[in-house]
Amino acid sequence: MTEKLLSQYDVVIVGGGVTGAGVARDCAMRGMSTLLVESHDLTYGTTGRNHGLMHSGARYAVTDLENARECIEENKILCRIARHCVEPTGGLFISLPEDDLAYQARLVESCHEAGINAEVIDAAEARRIEPAVNPTLVSAVLVPDASIDPFKLTMSNVLDAQLHGATVLTYHEVVAIHRDQNTVTAVTLRDNLSGEQKRVDAGVVINAAGIWSCLIAKLAGVELKMLPARGALLLLGQRVNKMVINRCRKPANADILVPTGNVCVLGTTSRRVPIEEIEDMSVTVEEAQMLLTEGVKLAPAIAHTRVLRAYAGVRPLVADDDDPTGRNVSRGISCIDHSERDGVENFITITGGKMMTYRLMAQMATDLACKKLHLRRRCATATTSLPGSDNVATSKSTTWHDFTISKPWRHDKNNRLLCTCEGVTEREVETILNEDDDVDFDALRRRTRLGMGPCQGRICACRVARKMCARQGEDEAMKRLVNFMNERWKGMRPVTWSDTLSEAYNTALVYQDLCGVDQIMKTVKKEVKQ
Ligand SMILES: Cc1cc2nc3c(=O)[nH]c(=O)nc-3n(C[C@H](O)[C@H](O)[C@H](O)COP(=O)(O)OP(=O)(O)OC[C@H]3O[C@@H](n4cnc5c(N)ncnc54)[C@H](O)[C@@H]3O)c2cc1C
Repeated sequence: MTEKLLSQYDVVIVGGGVTGAGVARDCAMRGMSTLLVESHDLTYGTTGRNHGLMHSGARYAVTDLENARECIEENKILCRIARHCVEPTGGLFISLPEDDLAYQARLVESCHEAGINAEVIDAAEARRIEPAVNPTLVSAVLVPDASIDPFKLTMSNVLDAQLHGATVLTYHEVVAIHRDQNTVTAVTLRDNLSGEQKRVDAGVVINAAGIWSCLIAKLAGVELKMLPARGALLLLGQRVNKMVINRCRKPANADILVPTGNVCVLGTTSRRVPIEEIEDMSVTVEEAQMLLTEGVKLAPAIAHTRVLRAYAGVRPLVADDDDPTGRNVSRGISCIDHSERDGVENFITITGGKMMTYRLMAQMATDLACKKLHLRRRCATATTSLPGSDNVATSKSTTWHDFTISKPWRHDKNNRLLCTCEGVTEREVETILNEDDDVDFDALRRRTRLGMGPCQGRICACRVARKMCARQGEDEAMKRLVNFMNERWKGMRPVTWSDTLSEAYNTALVYQDLCGVDQIMKTVKKEVKQ
């Protein structure tokens, strides 16, 4: 994103995940001059690496009532303000013969205490409303879980922030935070594409950098102890289930299956990792196999479903205990006023929580920023729809850019499909390329879902490469194509068996033998032969 940068802002927000996007929207809506800075692309962090589950709160009801209450409140708000991002699938917490029914009773009781509708239904009713569910289940609890699109949610918040005057810089990293004695006054940004550095004055700096928040805090001279808990997930090649299926037991491995678009997501694991490893998003074959072994207990059809890819994310939990898994650490929100905690003025950290509580987190951080800037402006994000939300009739087939400009693309016979798996059209891609000539494949993927479907980019990447050649020159376009396909391959690698193996081999053949691009997935053919 290329935008004009001022030398001074009321608020500088660090991190372009869903939290930073929500904070930018709230600050801009309350009339503050706002700068949002992201070191990579929007949703690069944990926001682009989760289940996409809009919790009802039932998962946390037994262990963390406050967290559960926040979830159900935000669940209702998101159903109103972000209808284009939410699919109200409903959810089941299933008890299998080996599960303790006493836990089910506690779950229902705690849900009621938190204000969550939770109804016990018998096995026959559960099988009727969700045919994919494990038929051996004993009973289930019906809750208002839903599926939410993290990419669309973040982009819609960013778009609304921009519509309210915010400046958004991607590929800009905060490399220094300046203090005048105990007051934060400015940040230095490095343009990660050109290497150029700029200093920007800030009334308040809001640290919304997810798991990287501890590193941002360090730049401001304060210590923030985080507990990085890494979770692995599998993307399955078709929509096995209609409803979210959870296992009714204390949270454990592979106990959530979320339908999303044409596919579904199975997760997760939870393993504490050292801070030095937070950039390592690789998943092992063992993790993938363990997820599948447990996952078939939710829905047996998983055993016969192609696994498209494996990916991982790191939970941004603030913690001070020694739990080795991170599962028992509160998923609660940490909104830290560093003047109270560390004596450093005009610096706020907002982290912890979950994607689905991002709006509340943003409200908390913005309230605090207003207080520091002596502004009395009320939060309106709970009652103001996000762009796109009111066009719900067309939302299934829309992307971020569908609601930036009104255009009847879908009904235009000259508009071709580039990504047939995800229904991404030539016009959508061209609109994005026209807005930013320098955009790469991954940025297109995050904004349109291009390459995220069953073929994992085999067909559409070729087509987009042709368009990029015209704009960026052949060498640059090919370099980007190679990077993109190799990134896709990283996610396929731990699950390369059966159909996924044939697909990967086929992709390697298309690119290497037909197109002559021999740097793409160069390990595939070698590994397949072994
Ligand atoms: C496996 C897994 C499954 C999950 N499933 C769910 C779910 O189903 N539902 C749910 O509600 N929540 C879920 N969560 C939690 C949720 O994903 C996170 O709480 C949420 O996405 C955090 O968003 P964030 O914006 O705070 O952080 P991030 O999305 O990580 O964003 C932080 C951003 O800061 C940027 N950044 C870092 N350093 C700098 C710098 N120096 N300068 C500029 N930018 C910087 C990073 O590049 C990054 O993009 C899950 C988490 C995991 C790990």
